Amino acid sequence: MGEIHPKPHALLLPYPLQGHVIPFIHLATKLASNGFIITFVITESIHHQITTSKNQTNHYKEGGINIFAEARKSGLDIRYATVSDGFPLGFDRSLNHDQFFEGIVHVFSAHVDEIVGKLVQSDPPVNCLVIDTFYVFASPIARKYNLVNISFWTEPALVFSLYYHMDLLRINGHYDNYDKREDIITYIPGVESIKPTDLTSYLQTDPTTVVHRLITKAFVDIRNSDFVISNTIDELEPQTISVLQENQPFYSIGPILPTGLTKSSVPVSMWSESDCGPWLDTKPKGSVLYISFGSYAHTSKHNIVEIAHGLLLSEVNFVWVLRPDIISSEETDYLPTGYDRLIEYSGMIVPWCSQADVLSHPAVGGFLTHCGWNSILESIWSGVPMICYPLLTDQFTNRKLVVDDWKIGVNLHDKRSVTREEVAENIGCVMSGKSSDRFKQEIKKVKKTLDNALARGGSSQKNLNQFTMDVKKKIR
Ligand code: UDP
Repeated sequence: MGEIHPKPHALLLPYPLQGHVIPFIHLATKLASNGFIITFVITESIHHQITTSKNQTNHYKEGGINIFAEARKSGLDIRYATVSDGFPLGFDRSLNHDQFFEGIVHVFSAHVDEIVGKLVQSDPPVNCLVIDTFYVFASPIARKYNLVNISFWTEPALVFSLYYHMDLLRINGHYDNYDKREDIITYIPGVESIKPTDLTSYLQTDPTTVVHRLITKAFVDIRNSDFVISNTIDELEPQTISVLQENQPFYSIGPILPTGLTKSSVPVSMWSESDCGPWLDTKPKGSVLYISFGSYAHTSKHNIVEIAHGLLLSEVNFVWVLRPDIISSEETDYLPTGYDRLIEYSGMIVPWCSQADVLSHPAVGGFLTHCGWNSILESIWSGVPMICYPLLTDQFTNRKLVVDDWKIGVNLHDKRSVTREEVAENIGCVMSGKSSDRFKQEIKKVKKTLDNALARGGSSQKNLNQFTMDVKKKIR
């Protein structure tokens, strides 16, 4: 038996996107509460965005993210550092994503190497690297500095498994540009069956793009990691997880959420949040539909207009997050004429909000979601059934879990465009009548699974303890 190291010091590095930064921040507190020293490293660009979004000014201080201040007061050792991603602050990363992704491999990796080189000399030295699975440069850096190589997977195990077995999809002709097979896939280990249309968008489209190359590379590199930790729960994906564990130490430690999901939750938004609380307070329990498509997915003007009319037809109360860049074109005037007037009392449209606060408000009874993994976990945590409207990446696969496996939501569409009648019908199904009661009962059961996993002796808690022990043994 190897020597047990007293205190692991982990460098945490999230992918520079909102949906990755959020779980990484909560992971930092979780690991620190379990005895880790944490140095949280974030890109200068994300740091700038978080610290300058208007509502955050009270929460952040020069030189460091103050969200960890409370954690530090309660004795947790969480440090903070920034690193350049190689692009100037003004560079539009979402508009130039191919260039950005290439930069991550060739320039950002060198900057990460440099900061790791410094932090292995800190007191006490960093001895573990906890890095987002999508980064392709983890193992060379971990090897160079003799660090325990831990990959953090922010999505469900099912998605991990599909990427992990990309070669099988390729061999069987389900992941190819031409003559793609359309029959059900039954050969992925640990996945009983999945329709080709439920694969992640990257596994359904042209496999030669920059993003595809990065994902392929990341899932080659993952095989060199010492441990994978994942924001999922054993009981929710038992078969997939147990098969993955035959290949690699894989620990489900989710849901990784702010404890309580209440107003006092740490602020981690990259944009200013509108306060929906006072408006929600005026609405009856369970009467409001919350609508959001996450931080970077886009949709068409046609679909926005149909959703807008569907909301009117259904006569539901709603809070709708419409990011200024929600439609792919430059157009900003995409809502039906006079829409603001039509929804004066029933609807609230905001560019961004604290989703955790909105979902946990008693007035909210349904969530029309793009099926981002964090959104799904937050919705389950708040007991809010979903209308699924996947747009990109893992969202198609996540939809399968919500609708087909756990039965806590409905599909808004299987095709790319929606009609107002479909929207209204789905809203009715989730917000009222017997079907709504059924969804609420089902989601209560899933929420209980999450509660149990986090409780003392629960699966995620046990996995976290085991992971911590295993890391300590592995520190070189
Ligand atoms: N979110 C938020 N306010 C909004 C919309 C989203 O705080 O108005 C948060 C949401 O709570 C979630 C994250 O942004 O934690 C989005 O992550 P998700 O995985 O759901 O989707 P992504 O943005 O990665 O597509």
